[in-house]
Amino acid sequence: MHYKAYKTILSPNNGLNLFRGCTHGCIYCDSRSDCYQMDHPFEDIEIKVNALAIFEQELQRRRKPCMIGTGAMTDPYIQLKPRLQITRGALALIEKYEFGVAIQTKSTRILRDLDLLTAINQKTKAVVQMTLTTYDEDLCKLLEPYVSTTKERVEALIRFKEAEIPSIVWLSPILPFINDSQENLQGILEYCIQAGVKGILCFGFGVTLRAGNRDYFYQQLDKYFPGMKQKYRLAFGENYVCTSPNNEVLMEIFKNTCRKHGILYQTEDIFRYLHTFEDKREQLSLF
Ligand code: SF4
Repeated sequence: MHYKAYKTILSPNNGLNLFRGCTHGCIYCDSRSDCYQMDHPFEDIEIKVNALAIFEQELQRRRKPCMIGTGAMTDPYIQLKPRLQITRGALALIEKYEFGVAIQTKSTRILRDLDLLTAINQKTKAVVQMTLTTYDEDLCKLLEPYVSTTKERVEALIRFKEAEIPSIVWLSPILPFINDSQENLQGILEYCIQAGVKGILCFGFGVTLRAGNRDYFYQQLDKYFPGMKQKYRLAFGENYVCTSPNNEVLMEIFKNTCRKHGILYQTEDIFRYLHTFEDKREQLSLF
């Protein structure tokens, strides 16, 4: 872990990345790609100096409250010294300045902030986003080794449902020849139904690989799935998008199940939902 000074912390689209790097070890992680120009080892977390002070200034400068998105590039619940409490501090500021939040994680550590997320959701809007890729718990421990398993994440989603905090599941990536089976998909969809999720984001069944993340992914394939790297090379060469041969069948199952259960599945609908700010007190005063 190391610190670095930054001048800004919110992107023009109100995206918040409190750290750079991640400790969860997902074998397919796109954030390792060279294009992000990380000048330190991926697991050596870079913490933005005065992250909370800069964030507060930027919230004060925003003319109108909006949704703040966090967790796209780095999981906000990585393993850090507990005293740092940076993510909790950021949520407290979001609550104080009455913004909304769409927070994305694979860790059940998010439950430690259930009180703050509930407080935000009572005034404005809090949405929890969890990635689910693998129904099989043993396989999940290989693909996403240092974070909560799928079953644990689903248990957390159920807690959020009970707290009336909406959730979105990222069904991505799905690794060709590894977890692109109907059985895997049906298991995850069952979990989503059980957790009453608002929407499921799926960009197609496959994985993206490019310089940086491909090397790491192939190293892990050699370690845990002997012969699989060669299969990928043969099927996809240097392609960025590596689509599962089962994509069409899986998409049909995915769409039909979502329609049947009233779950949002069109990506544009879900992103619109995630970016739409709500002031619940204003809505209440109309009645
Ligand atoms: S949680 Fe996200 S950022 Fe962290 S290793 Fe996994 S894919 Fe990468």
